Amino acid sequence: MSRYFTKTLAALKPYVPGEQPRDMKYVKLNTNESPFPPSEAAMKYASEHLRSLNLYPDPESAGLIKALADTYGVASEEVIVSNGSDEILFFAFKAFCDNEHKAVFPDITYGCYTVFANANNVPYREIPLKEDLTIDTGDYAETGNTIVLANPNAPTGIALPLESIEELLKAHPDDIVIIDEAYIDFGGESCIPLIKAYDNLLVVQTFSKSRSMAGARLGYAIGNRELIRDLNTIRNSFNPYNINSMTYSAAIGTLMDREYTLNNCREIIRVREYTVSELVRMGFKVLDSKANFVFACSDRISGEELYRRLKEKGVLIRHFAKDRIDNYNRITIGTKEQMDILLDRIREML
Ligand code: PMP
Repeated sequence: MSRYFTKTLAALKPYVPGEQPRDMKYVKLNTNESPFPPSEAAMKYASEHLRSLNLYPDPESAGLIKALADTYGVASEEVIVSNGSDEILFFAFKAFCDNEHKAVFPDITYGCYTVFANANNVPYREIPLKEDLTIDTGDYAETGNTIVLANPNAPTGIALPLESIEELLKAHPDDIVIIDEAYIDFGGESCIPLIKAYDNLLVVQTFSKSRSMAGARLGYAIGNRELIRDLNTIRNSFNPYNINSMTYSAAIGTLMDREYTLNNCREIIRVREYTVSELVRMGFKVLDSKANFVFACSDRISGEELYRRLKEKGVLIRHFAKDRIDNYNRITIGTKEQMDILLDRIREML
């Protein structure tokens, strides 16, 4: 740290992303990326627009916002796009949390929530997951806070039913409820339709998982137009050109190629169910996942040892050295071939 770093920021604990090692070729099942390439239409559109990189992109991303609005049957004013969904989550912590509205979220969830709360000087409370690592929305009864839930949750993969989210929205008419649906396309039920009835709901999604565009960095949020206007005020105060032209064009291509995304999601779900049954056959406990990853543990090998020995054998999975979950590993669902390599390596080990 330099001696110039401001005192208010010196204590920041930045997010630690999953490893992206370059020392050898791994079967990479640690950062929940899609194993499939972007759609052909995405690549075609992005390359056609390379010629206009001398120009700034549209600061309103109007065409992309319209395409997303049409996809979800909402108005353009109810959509905002961001540089990855991380950016919109950061904006939302800035816009909707302060000393009077602290952030509340589960103790075991996406690690960026604590990072973004700290970076925005926002007080927060972590609410413990139940013994079985599920969220009980009844634990979020206190009013006056901004509630942030990943649905499905990460790293557990467990999804909340739509009714539980609606109950939460009803119980908190004066509090913002942010539902992070990064993994919703793999079997969960999106609460986007609820934005019409609840002006306190903000739904956040991403192109990084089901749409094979993690490298392009594109997220979006859907909610009441006043919430979206607030978020645009933040966006235009920080990074008005937050969507680059290539990402913009690739995203339009992807949205046109809906069948490709749907087929990939179906395939991930199929391979997930296969992986779960093989892991269970080997004695693993696997949580009920509606995401493109599974969260599993075994009493025959510790979570840390499994992670370490798989890495030695060229397979990367994600281990969290955290209370209550340190015997688990989060395993991204790749192609069937990748999962067979993982399963073979585990079989050899056990
Ligand atoms: N939410 C959750 C629950 C995530 O796991 C992630 C990424 N791993 C994100 C949001 C952010 O994704 P991105 O910025 O790539 O859209």
